[in-house]
Amino acid sequence: MFKRILVANRGEIALRVIRACRELGVESVVVYSQADQDARYLKLADRAICIGPARSDQSYLKMSSIISAAEQADVDAIHPGYGFLSENSKFAEVCHSSGFEFIGPTVEAMECLGDKNNARQVAKRCNAPTVPGSDGVIESLSQALKVAHEIGYPVLVKATAGGGGRGIRLAENDQALELALSEAATEAQSAFGNPNVYIEKFIANPRHVEAQILADKYGNVVHLWERDCSLQRRRQKLVEMTPAPNLSLEQRKALCETAARIAKESGYTNAGTVEFIVDEQGNYYFIEMNARIQVEHPVTEMATGVDLIKSQIQIAAGEKLRLKQKDVVHRGYVIECRINAEDVEHNFRPCPGKIESMIVPGGFGVRFDSHVYAGYTVSPFYDSMIGKLIVAQNTREDALATMTRALQEFEIKGIKTSIPLLLRILQSREFATMTPDVGFIERYFMN
Ligand code: ADP
Repeated sequence: MFKRILVANRGEIALRVIRACRELGVESVVVYSQADQDARYLKLADRAICIGPARSDQSYLKMSSIISAAEQADVDAIHPGYGFLSENSKFAEVCHSSGFEFIGPTVEAMECLGDKNNARQVAKRCNAPTVPGSDGVIESLSQALKVAHEIGYPVLVKATAGGGGRGIRLAENDQALELALSEAATEAQSAFGNPNVYIEKFIANPRHVEAQILADKYGNVVHLWERDCSLQRRRQKLVEMTPAPNLSLEQRKALCETAARIAKESGYTNAGTVEFIVDEQGNYYFIEMNARIQVEHPVTEMATGVDLIKSQIQIAAGEKLRLKQKDVVHRGYVIECRINAEDVEHNFRPCPGKIESMIVPGGFGVRFDSHVYAGYTVSPFYDSMIGKLIVAQNTREDALATMTRALQEFEIKGIKTSIPLLLRILQSREFATMTPDVGFIERYFMN
């Protein structure tokens, strides 16, 4: 096992990694920007090192500063968390060449899966269902038109380097396709430095269902079941849950086993998430693989009892997976709500500022993962998510009741949060009676 780990992130995920290190008896060193210098989680690490000013391109995204901190603290390994440098294969490479283990997949796996078109080809080789579309990158308008006529409109033009919903355009006819190609390529070039695009058939009203994977360095892979993340606004997830509503055990099993096969075939290691969209008939299609820990990982932890962050660290340290597929038991019903500091009534604008007072819910089945507290000032420089409220119960009905009362108990004064909207969604007739797809929140709650 490692002696010391550098946590190359901030906020709730930094705290989550620090906690896992403490429980494993591993020392943790956390980096921070000047904007985070007063955060209390810094005191829970064994050491904290300032790596620069508030702007993330000068701190949390600056590889040279993070590597210097790792050298200064003499750590064995670096945990990148999610966001920032977590999916940057160059960063993983620099970690290795500087003598640090990167707690994540190999550079090769990151490069292979980071290109979405490539990942699609890997999935096809594993006989995983993929959305009908182009066989590779689109080279010309005539090729694009040919693909679109074969699969039928509407189609999506998607950037191979895409992420966060950027570089995606919808086209309903030939004329729109020409425009979509150039717009997607331009956006992808400026956001990712890579203009390559591919085409997929547009699936109407899909659900977003993803499977959690753990894989060690010896070829052992398990899946830890699925999470339904269809409750989104502008492709930002708000609520996640498991099991995915309205899928049979056989459908869930097939999807998760497909995910494990993709991970195994691509030589994937550490924690990863294979994302699918599910159409109105319940057919599932691979869309991409995220080579990192996800924000919503606690959903899986509560349903399976497996600590994913500890597992990541153990795998990176060269331990064999202790878990066999038959030992992974999915229990009950788990829901997570993301608590964001934002003003829902004013177009979700971020709402940074000081938390004057705060009462956090507790009780049976309630977990709150957060780095904030009364007196904490939410910084305008970073993501507006201030915590995740997770509940675990035996049934969906009980989980909904627990989540509702926990959100009702939650009191945060000084800043506006997403709690009122979350309550509105969970208490709605629509949520009680329908299976939400990715357009659900915008359709029923954005008027
Ligand atoms: P990103 O990498 O930018 O997150 P994804 O490929 O994961 O992009 O797609 C983001 C979201 O776009 C999905 O969660 C889904 O809601 C929607 N989407 C993606 N592909 C399709 C498709 N072929 N048809 C319909 N919706 C899609």
